[in-house]
Amino acid sequence: MSEDTIKVYGFGTQAKNKDLIPVVFLRKKVGKGEVAFKVTHCGVCHSDLHQVRNDWGNTQYPCVPGHEVVGTVTAIGEGVSKVKVGDVVGVGCIVDSCQECDYCEAGEENYCQGEKGATLTYNGPMNPDGTNTYGGYSTDLIAREEFILKVPEEIDPKHAGPIMCAGITVYSPMKHWDLKEGQTLGVAGIGGLGHMAVQIGKALGAKVVAFTRDDSKEDEILKMGADKVVISTDDDQMKAVAGSLDMLINTIPVPHDLAPYISLMKTDGKIIVVGNMVKFPEFSPASLVFSRITLAGSLIGGIRQTQEILDLCAEKDIRPSIKLIDIKDINSVFEALANGGDGHFRHVIDMDTLRNHAAIQSDDATKLKDPVRASG
Ligand code: NDP
Ligand code: ZN
Repeated sequence: MSEDTIKVYGFGTQAKNKDLIPVVFLRKKVGKGEVAFKVTHCGVCHSDLHQVRNDWGNTQYPCVPGHEVVGTVTAIGEGVSKVKVGDVVGVGCIVDSCQECDYCEAGEENYCQGEKGATLTYNGPMNPDGTNTYGGYSTDLIAREEFILKVPEEIDPKHAGPIMCAGITVYSPMKHWDLKEGQTLGVAGIGGLGHMAVQIGKALGAKVVAFTRDDSKEDEILKMGADKVVISTDDDQMKAVAGSLDMLINTIPVPHDLAPYISLMKTDGKIIVVGNMVKFPEFSPASLVFSRITLAGSLIGGIRQTQEILDLCAEKDIRPSIKLIDIKDINSVFEALANGGDGHFRHVIDMDTLRNHAAIQSDDATKLKDPVRASG
């Protein structure tokens, strides 16, 4: 280990069908304009599972996931003014971008048009030697100041992570496609993204209809503010709300028939796909054409807007519903997510359980390629 690096422990996998195991790697120490923080919590997003299992065909192994990362600043590089040592901060899905293109200028780094595009918090990939960004299932993270989010003091650190991926991913399309007060917002799939969409849509003044397959979640979804819960597998319930939605945020993570959801839309309705990124079975475009329905997609959100939704959640008392987990349970949580969920809306890893893990305590973790940094 050189003087320029710090030793970081994490949980990651070396191959597609392997469990996550304790790993160790090096990150470069904070440089100019960078912030280092000790990770205290990291949300478990369904994207972590897709990436670990190579569902999108682009995973670089080893893979250390985690992009709902929260912690306490341990060091700042020269010139950093946004935060100081001891502050509670977060990192969402992006750790770098060109900072020069029209999209970066507009605060939409997620759509960076620079040569490398946006560098994601994990599975960057970014370095010519093949090393990769490693994410927040780790003890420490380092990122450029521009990508560091400030966690408002009203928000307990354990609740902040899911706002920075799940929250921003549903908030961004509501803003972009201008969800108006009094309009009806549908949310399909009430997991991590979906339950944030219910609460955020409500805070923006929409009437919210939640579409879930799981009737055991109904009471909790109503308590979160949904005006109505529809069991999506019940044709009669689906038919009863046909033609009623101005906007639908579809978070369902797997290929599924879109036709029943298209029939829910009003004329001029907008369907925003944020979940499934693989394929849809065939459906007739006529159902879009005859009602001038927009079918669109949306990718997370920019840093400015992510700070905006953190601040809005603080102000409006919006919090994710979470189950704190020990990192040793991550593989069983992945299994549960792959099977449609276990009734919890979001799992969040308590990162002290990584620090206290026997393999880390005895310095017996699998060594990954290094050096790797989460920015630059
Ligand atoms: P979760 O697993 O927490 O929630 C997804 C929900 O979809 C489940 O709770 C369930 O809701 C429903 N669902 C799950 N499996 C099925 C199935 N086989 N058929 C129908 N419905 C199903 O996932 P997240 O909310 O974390 O993520 C959702 C998707 O969004 C993922 O694909 C993820 O990769 C993607 N994502 C996209 C981003 C973007 O920028 N576009 C950013 C972040 C995530 P219920 O039980 O209520 O039916
Ligand atoms: Zn995510």
